[in-house]
Amino acid sequence: MAVSQDTASSAQPRVSARIAGITPSATLAVDAKAKALKAEGRPVIGFGAGQPDFPTPDHVVEAAVAAVRDRANHGYTAAAGLPELREAIAAKTERDSGLSCSASQVLVTNGGKQAVYSAFATLLDPGDEVLLPAPYWTTYPESITLAGGVPVQVTADESTGYRVGVDQLEAARTERTKVLLFNSPSNPTGSVYSREQVAEIGRWALEKGIWVVTDEIYEHLVYDGVRAESMPVVVPELADRTLVLNGVAKTWSMTGWRVGWLIGPEDVVSAAASFQSHLCGNVANVSQRAALAAVAGPLDVVETMRSAFDSRRRTIVSMLSDIPGVECPTPEGAFYAYPSVKALLGTEIRGQRPTDTVELADLILAEAEVAVVPGEAFGTPGYFRFSYALAEQDLIEGVTRVADLLAEAK
Ligand code: PLP
Repeated sequence: MAVSQDTASSAQPRVSARIAGITPSATLAVDAKAKALKAEGRPVIGFGAGQPDFPTPDHVVEAAVAAVRDRANHGYTAAAGLPELREAIAAKTERDSGLSCSASQVLVTNGGKQAVYSAFATLLDPGDEVLLPAPYWTTYPESITLAGGVPVQVTADESTGYRVGVDQLEAARTERTKVLLFNSPSNPTGSVYSREQVAEIGRWALEKGIWVVTDEIYEHLVYDGVRAESMPVVVPELADRTLVLNGVAKTWSMTGWRVGWLIGPEDVVSAAASFQSHLCGNVANVSQRAALAAVAGPLDVVETMRSAFDSRRRTIVSMLSDIPGVECPTPEGAFYAYPSVKALLGTEIRGQRPTDTVELADLILAEAEVAVVPGEAFGTPGYFRFSYALAEQDLIEGVTRVADLLAEAK
């Protein structure tokens, strides 16, 4: 096909600066490398996946099957979500976190990811700053930047179990600070803030007039008797300036169904719904019906998954902690361990001397055939994220391979 030459526009970039500025997901890059090796027939064990390895519960699948056959689900529906689902999400939120809200305060989105993007698109004007505790989930800084905002990283390390304190947040606050992003239980560290810490941060945000976007997607995956506390429940006066993000992906093992939501004050939710009406319209009705069965149904299926994760968590933390040069705080939530491997950087392993965790992760993939995600993906080089959403025997085999390789460090 002939390509027409348009000299007037050839000086212009083909891709906008906004989109060209997006950093490709390091998590997906690791996954792609691991898949390529697997395709060559190599027995790669992957700790990269951010999704439960359980099937979606049967009653949810059955609800979707029935929904496919119902003509009412074949056409457009309200952009903000099916009224029954919005009601059910409001009821589920009160049941699970204690936050009381009405259906009109709920916007159903295409996965939690779109809730993150829409929250920032709705709240931020160009130049508005967002305090972003790190290690952070990779999608946050990209969504903030795409919305015209400026992510301001506030880093916590293993000495505080990766939890930031009010002093650090206050030191990073400026005249332009509009939002604090909060994620507990956290991806990638698995850390969970205590009720006292949530209260302290919430009261500080209230006093400073800062909005809070709190991502509660791992609320049910907590261990050792710990509870995930919802900031607008702990500090109710903050509710008028808080957006709560959540979804069915992690709790009901429904990553592929793409249903999430955002809960907040009515004026902001209605603005976000108006944005969504142009962006994508309604979330697929069949998925919404499946999500309705999930959120309105029993939580016993969730408990089965949670206790399996708990057992793997104990195994992985104890195995990682036994590796010289690796320091692994015990995560109390989600399904990730986030050990520091800083002591191993610069050492010699099989003739190589990796100086950062991207290089060390590459070496581990090539030599031990194990995929882990380097901390660079989460704003904190020097660490690895291990997802323990894989079968226990694979987990043991994978960590054993890593331990054997790292034991050669000199
Ligand atoms: N929030 C956090 C912290 C996550 O880890 C994820 C997924 O990895 C999401 C939100 C979004 O999940 P989804 O878009 O699959 O609903």
